[in-house]
Amino acid sequence: MSRFLNVIPVADAVAEVIRISPSPVTETIPLESSVGRILAAEVTADSDIPGFDRSVVDGFAVRAADTAGAGDAIPALLHCTGRIAMGRQDTTGIFAPGTCTYIPTGGILPEGADAVVMVEYAEEAGDMVLVKRPVSYGENVLLYDEDFKKGECVFSSGRRISAQDAGVLAACGCAAVTVAKKPVVGIISTGNELIPVTGVPGPGQVRDANASMLAAYLTEYGCTPRIYGIIPDERQAFEAVLARAVPECDVVLLSGGSSKDDRDMTAAVIATMGEVLVHGIAIAPGKPTIIGRISDKPVFGLPGHPASAFVVLIAIVRPLIDRMLGVPHPIQRTEKATLSINIPSQRGRDEFVRVTLKNGTATPLFGKSGLLNTLVRSNGLIRIPAGAEGLEQGSTVEVILW
Ligand code: AMP
Ligand code: MG
Repeated sequence: MSRFLNVIPVADAVAEVIRISPSPVTETIPLESSVGRILAAEVTADSDIPGFDRSVVDGFAVRAADTAGAGDAIPALLHCTGRIAMGRQDTTGIFAPGTCTYIPTGGILPEGADAVVMVEYAEEAGDMVLVKRPVSYGENVLLYDEDFKKGECVFSSGRRISAQDAGVLAACGCAAVTVAKKPVVGIISTGNELIPVTGVPGPGQVRDANASMLAAYLTEYGCTPRIYGIIPDERQAFEAVLARAVPECDVVLLSGGSSKDDRDMTAAVIATMGEVLVHGIAIAPGKPTIIGRISDKPVFGLPGHPASAFVVLIAIVRPLIDRMLGVPHPIQRTEKATLSINIPSQRGRDEFVRVTLKNGTATPLFGKSGLLNTLVRSNGLIRIPAGAEGLEQGSTVEVILW
């Protein structure tokens, strides 16, 4: 008989995770340090952008009608009335028909002009300019408020700020942005066999791979990881580290010891210090997963195998982080691909299969569950939902890219 009597579906586990998610906390930070952060409020344009009709090339401001039919053989001949200085309004008066003015890129289009001829198609001859190409109305001009209108929503909340977003936010006058606070996630590695990365494994020992992997993922995802190191499979050690980590963090992840073997301590310790809400999820890999709570802080017990811990991080922990960050959809890259062979799967559990991706074809990388190499030889994961008996060769799958 299974040691896991109360294995629950992934959807139920995620619902439980969402139920116990702390609400997003916000903070206001300078724009220049906002890349990667999640906007916690809508941003609207504080003014019309641009606030004036603006040339987008170096050239001559004209009335488009004056250039009709112009060509190399018979150029349009326009009287040049001067040069427009950058950032200055032209004050020379009415822009008369048959005239033009030199205008730099970004210059304010003089009133009466409606297009700009690029310098490449114009030739200066004394105070005349020979225009060798016709321009149409509005050509080479960015019109008033064409980019953003005052009050228009530029970004919705939940958006991850990219480098180009920062540029647009600056143009909209946002020197500071309100973003979700980075959740502080405690990471505890458990197991008598574990040694630090700097150690040399003796018989039966393995280096702690999970702490670095979980911390790296969480950092990239917008959290502040806090590594508490390795603790042995001893009750007092578990209690001591949790007593430190829970008050210091918003969420705590323990890896290892989450199963139901006698030496697995995690569930019993969480139950003593708080409550175990879920122990066992219909997910492969990752069945021996614990969702619990201590002093209202979510505490997860992840399986020790790095590949299993990683899948549980993505499938079960990430929805909590998404809630805390206020993102409506997981921040992940995916790519559609065609499956190269049939993949059988056991009904009743969500299965995550590592695949390689080449020229739009996904090929599963089967391997023993403890292997590390399949984590890095693969390009991502595909999910076989609990209701399916497998996936057929030739079907379209979505690959969650690493
Ligand atoms: P456990 O979940 O504690 O039963 O561990 C399952 C397997 O994962 C064992 O082979 C452990 O040695 C291994 N393991 C546990 N924690 C880690 C870790 N932090 N880094 C690498 N391997 C681990
Ligand atoms: Mg262990």
